[in-house]
Amino acid sequence: MSTSRSQPFVNRRVLKINVGFMLAEGVGYVREIALDLPRVQLDDDLTLDFLRGTLRLSRNSRGVLVQGTLDTHVLAECARCLRPTFVPVELTLEELFAFPASPDCAYAVAETGILDTAPLLREEAILAVPMVVLCRPDCAGLCPQCGQDLNDGLCGCKPDRFDPRLEVLRSRLQSLDSEEP
Ligand SMILES: [Zn+2]
Ligand SMILES: [Zn+2]
Repeated sequence: MSTSRSQPFVNRRVLKINVGFMLAEGVGYVREIALDLPRVQLDDDLTLDFLRGTLRLSRNSRGVLVQGTLDTHVLAECARCLRPTFVPVELTLEELFAFPASPDCAYAVAETGILDTAPLLREEAILAVPMVVLCRPDCAGLCPQCGQDLNDGLCGCKPDRFDPRLEVLRSRLQSLDSEEP
C-alpha cells in the first residue's frame, strides 16, 4: 500500500470503533455514532469520497448489532471511457458482530473490544455500485480503433469502419471485466 497516496485520505483505521464499554454494559444498551468523514481509503482498490451518516450500535446477547444508513460516493471506472467516476450510493447496514466470535457469524468484535466496520463497509460498497458505471449518461466512450477518448473530441479514424455492433459487444465485455472482484 502506498503511503503517499493515502496522505489526503482518512485511513480505514478510523472505522474501528472501540465497543469495550458496550460489552461491559447489559443487553439492550444502545449507542449512536455520527460519522462525517472525508475521503476514506477502504482498500487499495476501494475509495469512498466521503462517508456520512449515523451508526446505531446495540448490545444484544450475541454481540453488537450494527445498523445504519450511510451516504457515500464510491470511486469506480466508467465502463465506456474508463475515467475514474464517483458513484453516489446509500449503504444500508444491518449486521451482527458476534462477541465472542462465532462460526455462524461473518463478523465479530475482536477480543480487544474493537469493532472494525471496514470489512462490512467494503462488502456493502461493492454490492451498492451498479455493474455498469457511466461517467455521464451520454459518455461517448473510447474509439474502438485507436482508443482515443471521444469525449475529448473525434479522432482521425474513418467513421465508415465503425461497426456499432462491435461497440455494443465491446462495452459488454468491458462491463464483464469490471465485474471481476
Ligand atoms: Zn465515460
Ligand atoms: Zn480512433
